[in-house]
Amino acid sequence: MQKLHLNPMLIVLITLFFGCTSTSSTQHKPDFALVIHGGAGTILKKNMSDEKEKAYRDALENALHTGNEILASGGSSVDAVVAVITQMEDSPLFNAGKGAVFTHEGKNELDASLMNGADLNVGAVAGVTQIKNPIQLARLVMENSPHVLFAREGAEAFAKEQGIEMTDPKYFYTERRWESLQKALEKEKSQNDAAIIQMENAKFGTVGCVALDKNGNLAAGTSTGGMTNKRFGRVGDSPIIGAGTYANNKTCAVSATGHGEFFIRNMVAYDIAAMMEYKRLAVKDAAQMAIDKVGSMQATGGVIVLDKNGTIAMPFNTEGMYRGYIKAGEEPVIKIYKD
Ligand code: ASP
Repeated sequence: MQKLHLNPMLIVLITLFFGCTSTSSTQHKPDFALVIHGGAGTILKKNMSDEKEKAYRDALENALHTGNEILASGGSSVDAVVAVITQMEDSPLFNAGKGAVFTHEGKNELDASLMNGADLNVGAVAGVTQIKNPIQLARLVMENSPHVLFAREGAEAFAKEQGIEMTDPKYFYTERRWESLQKALEKEKSQNDAAIIQMENAKFGTVGCVALDKNGNLAAGTSTGGMTNKRFGRVGDSPIIGAGTYANNKTCAVSATGHGEFFIRNMVAYDIAAMMEYKRLAVKDAAQMAIDKVGSMQATGGVIVLDKNGTIAMPFNTEGMYRGYIKAGEEPVIKIYKD
């Protein structure tokens, strides 16, 4: 029998050709895309009533529709992220804005950040108590100040100067979050434990959004009440650019949720973008590696990531993560539990 001699170079070329065509046929770049999360945590189907699940699904779907309308009509990714997060902040379901958790002292101290992937401009606020929509203040910091992060009274002085909507701190009271604080305080007392944060059965509930607009610009935003029973002006990862939020048109946009201290220590959001930029990792691999790293420190949480081609990754190491996405011309997808 005659032996078939194939030139090794030819084999490489054939492999490359078929590899490329198969990828391009399965993954076409959408005109725009938007991904959201409403927090990760111990979210189990068995603990969820149909009614509660529907409320979350509806809220996530409404947020996706808001973003979709803006992006479909040519709006910017920054506009979409701010509008979507504003809507989620107004819902008592999420730990951001209206539904923010309580500090040890029984207050609500809110954090938020926003990043524009087109010019790497950012704005963030930490520990604000009277701002109805912290994501909108983050935008004003980004656009109307030479700085990137304002905290507490300073952030509120800037807010007044900018004429943004202020609110009585009582607005943030919800019975559900108040009860969570009481449980955390009781547990702390009974365990005689100085642990500032109750991690067991934690449901984080932070909100985040990443978007790619028709002009190819990426943006990311995150907003949170932080963690129940937090103390001493504690600030988590959400307003820290590179930890809880990051966007760069060269690579991807990221928003995180989880145990903020560990997301800061691992610079999770930037880590993902850096792996993609320097190591040319695919978005799914980079996102998974960053979450595995957090997990190796026994910390929990998740991220939503959208790359410049509209490819999405949403890894988490908890039981569930409220999440969803929409791509141009497609139906919205909403998920809560592990797949
Ligand atoms: N990452 C937030 C924080 O540590 C909490 C969350 O994601 O719900 O403040």
